[in-house]
Amino acid sequence: MIVAIDGPAGAGKSTVAKSLASALGLHFLDTGAMYRAVTLEVLRRGLDPANGRDCAKVASEIELDFDAQGKVLIAGEPGEPHIRSHEVTSHVSAVSAHGEVRDPIVALQRSLAERWGGLVAEGRDMTTVVFPRAEHRFFLNASSSERARRRALELGTPSDVERIRVDIERRDRLDSTRAVAPLSRGEGVTLIETDGKDANDVLDTLLRTIRGSSK
Ligand code: C5P
Repeated sequence: MIVAIDGPAGAGKSTVAKSLASALGLHFLDTGAMYRAVTLEVLRRGLDPANGRDCAKVASEIELDFDAQGKVLIAGEPGEPHIRSHEVTSHVSAVSAHGEVRDPIVALQRSLAERWGGLVAEGRDMTTVVFPRAEHRFFLNASSSERARRRALELGTPSDVERIRVDIERRDRLDSTRAVAPLSRGEGVTLIETDGKDANDVLDTLLRTIRGSSK
């Protein structure tokens, strides 16, 4: 079974997708971590995130895999915590906007779905481009102030909430307006508004929808 989940930064996709995967006995795929890993490698090599050809070379050469917890490995080494740095976060939307970067990453995502015999995948284009025929497709959303508040709590820096909100809104804008695979809610994708709901409430809603469906 494939469950595809999209939504903007900080909507709670990772937490919920991880719990959903374990409830359903499926692998979890954090596709943002893959674009973050490519961005980290672009920066490590001193390349320009705006240069599509250079970024595409990195995306086709990089050796990505996942450990048992679903954390990304770059050439066998943990990508965390480096892929979450402020520098990577501020360049990842530029790197992931290049179609030539996305092609090899999307191919890897589809081959992982085959190798694992199904998965719960979360990102920006899971429901629209990568797995448009997934059995279940969800779009998780929340206001930018709620998303910034959660992210700040997660990072343990509640006083940074305003900077995080500005950063989140900038990424939303870049991810939603790019020419290739923009963040959008496709037709037939179930919208879940998560303002005022905790991760357990959202997980319950998804599980009820999946179990209640005849697919
Ligand atoms: O989910 P996360 O915030 O870690 O994603 C980091 C960035 O990776 C996003 O802002 C977006 O630019 C890019 N991304 C993407 N397509 C995906 C997942 C993430 O373009 N499927």
